[in-house]
Amino acid sequence: MTRTNAEILADRSRLLGPNIPTFYEDPVHIVKGDGVWLWDADGRRYLDCYNNVPHVGHCNPRVVEAICRQASTLNTHTRYLHEGILTYVDRLTATLDPSLGTAILTCTGSEANDIALRMAEAVTGKRGIIATDATYHGNTSLVSQLSQSNVPTVGFGLGQYFRFVPAPDSYRSPDPNGALFAETLAAQIDALEKDGTGFAALVVCPYFLNEGFPDHPDGWLRPVAEAVRRAGGLLICDEVQSGFGRTGTHMWAHEKMGVVPDVLVLGKPMGNGHPIGGVVANREMVGAFRNGYRYFNTFGGNPVSCAAAMAVLEEIEDRNLLANAKAVGDHARRRLQSLAEKYDVIGDVRGSGLIFGAEMVTSRETKSPARAYTNRVINAMRDRGVLHSHLGRDKNTLKIRPPMPFSIANADLLLDTLDEVLAETPPQP
Ligand code: PMP
Repeated sequence: MTRTNAEILADRSRLLGPNIPTFYEDPVHIVKGDGVWLWDADGRRYLDCYNNVPHVGHCNPRVVEAICRQASTLNTHTRYLHEGILTYVDRLTATLDPSLGTAILTCTGSEANDIALRMAEAVTGKRGIIATDATYHGNTSLVSQLSQSNVPTVGFGLGQYFRFVPAPDSYRSPDPNGALFAETLAAQIDALEKDGTGFAALVVCPYFLNEGFPDHPDGWLRPVAEAVRRAGGLLICDEVQSGFGRTGTHMWAHEKMGVVPDVLVLGKPMGNGHPIGGVVANREMVGAFRNGYRYFNTFGGNPVSCAAAMAVLEEIEDRNLLANAKAVGDHARRRLQSLAEKYDVIGDVRGSGLIFGAEMVTSRETKSPARAYTNRVINAMRDRGVLHSHLGRDKNTLKIRPPMPFSIANADLLLDTLDEVLAETPPQP
């Protein structure tokens, strides 16, 4: 039985409730994936330039095989002894600084961030959390307080513990060595200490991906980490999006930004679509959390999830996907830069590895965000069979974040199509 798109939308509303977000004016009904390609119900093929969840490619054979093998052997909750979680955490932590040697596995990034915030409370005895004002860290009662663009209208009175600093914006207010950000952060820390809440942690994506991936030199977070530690707080790096080699230069974006977090949060690409997330910290911090909160997660780190996650790490390594992300990302950004010479609407080209894009503006002088125009471009790209999206505070930055096996030929198809779309979509006066 194949429903039409209109029928699916009506049934989603009837069966799943109102106000569910979809992509594109004409939403895509995807039925199949393979590598960097997706097919809709009519058999039309799309180039996927958006999905970081199928990190090593849609339906990656090694991941599929690992899931099937483990699912046909054993899958159960996490209270039995099982070696899969141990071999996985050993392999994962071998890619990290030795201080990050102990992990709690979850099913989602939101759960992992929730643990990270509670860990900060357990370690510091304080509750004040600071984040940027244009970020997203998840959907639990606690963590959803961090989304300024989507603040809950109800929420158990948790809002009192959260403070915000302006998201870095390298295009409009350059802060080349992170000193300005560290200064505004220090002011918020002082305010938390003065009002009696106390400062527990700063939580940031080290590459500020949801904020529009500002152009920061390597090592940018160092003064920020110093300000956090001077005040006795924890640095939580949410690498749900930026981790596992996405930036092409490093396995972890915190390495690129010159810091070792106290707490590292993982999710999305970790299991290539199989739900698994995690928190990594040192043994004392994990102990403070486990002693402070009685924590059990039925599915987090189950044998099938760990098999999927292990296969992802093996694929990244065996197929040299970091080097691929760097080479293809560099090529794509060079080509985007040449499009910027042709189209005034492109104000800034940014990114690293396979997270890149361009900020669209109504004028290069005022740098005013071209939000509606960006939306038209994304929909026109979709109509031509190339899927990507937009992000940043004003949703005017093209968000291009494909699966890691994305090739030079894939990048050329993306950029050729973007060239055609920009030529055919003149900005409205
Ligand atoms: N952190 C970041 C940086 C994210 O982008 C997201 C999801 N977009 C989350 C956390 C939440 O992850 P999940 O949806 O798996 O709960």
